Amino acid sequence: MEFEDIRREIVDIGKKLVERRLTYGTCGNISCRAPDGRRMLITPSGIPYEMIKPEDILILNFHGEIEKGDLRPSVETPFHLAIYRRRGDVNAVIHIHSQYTLAVSAVSDFVPVFLDEIFSHIGGDLQVSRYALPGSAELAKNVIEALGDRNAALLSNHGAVCCGRNLKEAFEIAEIVEEICKIFILSSSLGEIKILPDEGRKYQREMFEMKKT
Ligand SMILES: [Zn+2]
Repeated sequence: MEFEDIRREIVDIGKKLVERRLTYGTCGNISCRAPDGRRMLITPSGIPYEMIKPEDILILNFHGEIEKGDLRPSVETPFHLAIYRRRGDVNAVIHIHSQYTLAVSAVSDFVPVFLDEIFSHIGGDLQVSRYALPGSAELAKNVIEALGDRNAALLSNHGAVCCGRNLKEAFEIAEIVEEICKIFILSSSLGEIKILPDEGRKYQREMFEMKKT
């Protein structure tokens, strides 16, 4: 089976997403750029993570055509493809539907840099993309816009997209995004959020750039 190791890793990460409550049921999806750089592997649509087998993972080219696989690819294939086409530094994308992230995505337009530390993984604010229907080309366009050169963005009323140089890193970003959203909710309930001053933001951005190299 082509890319067997990557397929297994995708299946394992799917189970871990559910275990850590970063998604549930058949919500969310996982993809990875193939080592040849010209294709992507992605989870199938409508199958619970516990049931997905390595052979169920589909391979699509960057025109969105299925090269291998009998199942339907994730409905969110358009934004996964758009990210790989646009961002050469991204090799893995995880879309989550987690509790705190969903709560923030239903209320806020963005989550500012308000914590000294964890935003160095994201690269700046967590922007919330404008609402568009799941699976639509418009959603893909809005996600690209909200993501910019950062590692994550929230989708309005829908969850988050988390990127990494590999699947392990994308998973870490997913955990961090959920943690940020949780603390954002806690902090907001206490009063007005204190956004990090410019020097703090600059420092976090420098840390982010350093991690990229
Ligand atoms: Zn979704």
